[in-house]
Amino acid sequence: MSKKTIYVDMDGVLVNFQTGIDKLSDDDKLKYEGRYDEVPGIFSKMDPMPDAIASFGWLCKNFNVYILSTAPWENPSAWSDKRVWVEKHLGNKAYKRVILSHNKHLCKGDFLIDDRTANGAGEFEGRLIQFGAEGYENWLKVIKYFNTYID
Ligand SMILES: [Mg+2]
Repeated sequence: MSKKTIYVDMDGVLVNFQTGIDKLSDDDKLKYEGRYDEVPGIFSKMDPMPDAIASFGWLCKNFNVYILSTAPWENPSAWSDKRVWVEKHLGNKAYKRVILSHNKHLCKGDFLIDDRTANGAGEFEGRLIQFGAEGYENWLKVIKYFNTYID
């Protein structure tokens, strides 16, 4: 049987967005209050979520895995920062497996792990695993769920 396909979101799933905000200067915190995703370079400063890197590696061994994230339209540097973040933290496992889109529902596959329903995630035709929701509160819970799909 062919491997099932899983898409994995970045912000709030692989990436801890708050750690990028925490590293901003006080000036930038004031200047960009309420729209931190528009700070140039902010996406390169973010740390991974707990257990995200090891969990992504485990998924890659057992499933056909892609990253499916949305980069802010108003912040062009976010598009390249996300690509750089993926190489830095995930290396070859995510080589040429990054999709940046505001229309996640157009991707075909079995699962989408996403913390929100925005940008088409809620209309994804496979199963949406809502990261942070009951049963999927963290990566260990998510891995436990996907473990039931492997032999
Ligand atoms: Mg997200």
